[in-house]
Amino acid sequence: MFPIAYHPIYKHPLPDGHRFPMLKYELLPQQLLYEGTVQPNDFFEPKICDLEYVLAVHTKEYVNQLINLSLEPRAIRKIGFPLSADLVERELRIAQGTLLGCQKSFDTKISFNIAGGTHHAYATHGEAFCLLNDQAIATQFLLNNKLAKKILIIDLDVHQGNGTAEIFKSNSNVFTFSTHGKSNYPFKKEKSDLDIEFLDNTNDDVFLKTISEIIPRLIEQQKPDFIFYLAGVDILASDKLGKLSCTIDGCKKRDEIVFELCHEYQIPVQVSMGGGYSPEIKTIIEAHTNTYRVAKSIF
Ligand SMILES: [Zn+2]
Repeated sequence: MFPIAYHPIYKHPLPDGHRFPMLKYELLPQQLLYEGTVQPNDFFEPKICDLEYVLAVHTKEYVNQLINLSLEPRAIRKIGFPLSADLVERELRIAQGTLLGCQKSFDTKISFNIAGGTHHAYATHGEAFCLLNDQAIATQFLLNNKLAKKILIIDLDVHQGNGTAEIFKSNSNVFTFSTHGKSNYPFKKEKSDLDIEFLDNTNDDVFLKTISEIIPRLIEQQKPDFIFYLAGVDILASDKLGKLSCTIDGCKKRDEIVFELCHEYQIPVQVSMGGGYSPEIKTIIEAHTNTYRVAKSIF
């Protein structure tokens, strides 16, 4: 069994017609329970993250503007969600889900957050549906509390972890690794410690060969004592926002590669969900559910 952060506010409804799919946050836990991959007591409900931990990554000015709902309209447009107290609460609970999850991983080896992976959030501003950077907040927490010395962030979402790269660009205790579509958002990319850009229509073979060569090498070189994994399923060929051509099976093999290595090297890992924008909700749920199925088979 492994702990999974989830709170009913994760499925917080956006105004009618909003293009961001929130349904997956409701269906994924249901599917996991229905098929018996997880049990009800695997879930924990995160509280609101203590601002002290948020402020270890994000600037006071930005956090105050979020809490007071006083962000400039331009900054809100960059985020892409209408700003509301519920939305800010949702982000603070998601951040706490990752922060608490990563601490649980030391016992359980792996933990999950049903949401999170908000890697486009910078210290100073949010972008592309990301307000606060959950894995960055958790990374900084582990370092500040001396729970880890060297952290590897493996971001295999189809979009570059630009916020995460910028936040840790001069922190030698954090190694940021991002694979992403070269021609995808963000169009002005940041510099991670290692970026691998895939061309449009990259298939399973190329994707899997690349990561199965690189990740073991990174673990050997960096010797991380904690890993954060961002398991976005927007690498699928069907994805509306991705431009790669991976299959559901390839996406599952990707998760297997990451989890087998964490298991082999005995490195605790926290997994946040990241993106997934296939037109059929069942495709999104199947791909995300696979990540949990694979974890169950390995851990
Ligand atoms: Zn993405």
